[in-house]
Formats: sequence, C-alpha cells, structure tokens
Amino acid sequence: MEQPKFWVDTIRHDVCKAASCSQRQQATRRSEAARQAVMRRQFGPGPAGVTCKTCAHLIRVPGGRHVYLKCARYRISASEATDWRAKWPACGAFEQAAS
Ligand code: SF4
Repeated sequence: MEQPKFWVDTIRHDVCKAASCSQRQQATRRSEAARQAVMRRQFGPGPAGVTCKTCAHLIRVPGGRHVYLKCARYRISASEATDWRAKWPACGAFEQAAS
C-alpha cells in the first residue's frame, strides 16, 4: 500500500474497506481519522505506544446518561464531531495526567 503523504491521505487510508462497513460507519471512521490527523499535523506525533487515555488534556464531559470524552486541545462542543477516544494514539501535545 502506498504510504500517505499528507493528512488528507491518512484519512483516506484509515477508512474502513470491509464489505460489512456501512456508509455511516465509513463516515464515522473518516471523521475520527480527520480529528486525529488535525492533532498530528498541528503538534506532531506523541510518544510511541502512548494513548490519549493518560493525557491531562483528555476531559470527561457529562451529558445525559453518558460521559463523553473530549480533547481540551482540540475543541469542545456538544456535538459528536468533537468526541474523543481514549485508545487513540497520543499527539505531540501529550502531557501526563496526574494520577
Ligand atoms: S494526546 Fe492529549 S492533547 Fe493530544 S490528542 Fe490526545 S488528549 Fe488531545
């Protein structure tokens, strides 16, 4: 597979290609990849093997019966377009959270 050169290419490479992947799932994957790519482009890659889970910028926002993860260095809104995942690889803005 050709290596991606730009963050937009990264998004294309990350899209689910499985036959069972619906258009909505593909759109979700593309949107999630775009958020990660924005952070990597702005701050560079984070420490190897580290995820957002232990970053001080990952915050928990209560909403209804759920708690939503958001990255304080990205953008915070009530939309799922700013939802974050703890398992995503850390970016260069990573700061270890106090335990
Ligand atoms: S490592 Fe921290 S600053 Fe970077 S994307 Fe994850 S939560 Fe945000």
